[in-house]
Amino acid sequence: MTLRRIQSDEPGPGQVLALRTMIWESELSRKDIQVEYRWVPAHKGIEGNEKADQQATKAAYKCRGKRIETQNPPSYLNYVSFAHINRRLTELKWEESKKKIQEMGRESKHSYRYDLAKRGGNSAVMGSRKSIAARFYQLKTGHALLGKYLRRIGKRRDMKCWWCGHEYQTRDHLFKWCKRWKREQKRLWVDGQEGEEGYEGVEKVLKKPKISLPMSLVFAEEKCSQALLDFLYLTDVGRISGVVEEAENSDHEESSDGGV
Ligand SMILES: [Zn+2]
Repeated sequence: MTLRRIQSDEPGPGQVLALRTMIWESELSRKDIQVEYRWVPAHKGIEGNEKADQQATKAAYKCRGKRIETQNPPSYLNYVSFAHINRRLTELKWEESKKKIQEMGRESKHSYRYDLAKRGGNSAVMGSRKSIAARFYQLKTGHALLGKYLRRIGKRRDMKCWWCGHEYQTRDHLFKWCKRWKREQKRLWVDGQEGEEGYEGVEKVLKKPKISLPMSLVFAEEKCSQALLDFLYLTDVGRISGVVEEAENSDHEESSDGGV
C-alpha cells in the first residue's frame, strides 16, 4: 500500500508522505545514493527482517542530527526502514523550514526569487514578499506550521486550533472554517478583490462551493494564487510566532503513531 502510494504525488491520503519520499529520494540521488524500496512483513522470525530492523535502527541512530555526506554510503543505508526514512525526513524538513523562515524574516522586504525556476513557482508568488511566499509553499506542500503537522512530528500533543479551539487544526480548517479568519475566508472564497490588481473569489474561479474543493486543488490552480497570497497576508495562518517557542521548550518525544 505504502509502496504503491509513494509512486505518485496525486492528491489524496498519503500525498504528503509521497511528496516527501520523492524529495528525500532526489536528495539522496543527487549524492549518488540509489534508493530501493522493499516491503518487509512486520513479523518476527522472518529471516533477514530482524537484521534489517537492527540495521535500520543503527542507521537512524547514526544519521540523526546530521546530513549524510558520504559519497559511498555504508551498506546499512540500503536497509533503512520506511518509518525511519519518514522520521528522518520530517526532522530534516523541520530544520530546513525553520532555517528558511529565519532567513526570510531577515530579508522580508525582498521579493521571493529563491530558486523559483526549479520549483516551478508562478509569477504571483514570485512577486510577493518572501515571508508570505514561504508560507504559501509550506502550506502547499503540507509543511506549514499547523496543529496537524506539529503533532505529527511530535512538537505538540494535540492538533487543536490555537485560535478557535477546534479539535483539528488542518489546512482545510484554517482556510475554510476557522472562526478566527471568517472575514478573510469570505474574501478568499466569495468576494475576491476589486480593481486592477484584483481577482475573483476561488468559488467563482473553480465554479464549485468551497466544501467540495480540496485545498490541494486550490493551491495547484495558478488563478487562485493571488487570492491565497492575500489571505496569508491578511491572516497569521502558517505563521511561526508563538508556536516554535513552545515547540522548542517542550520535551522531544518520539511520536510512534506515524499517523499520515
Ligand atoms: Zn480554528
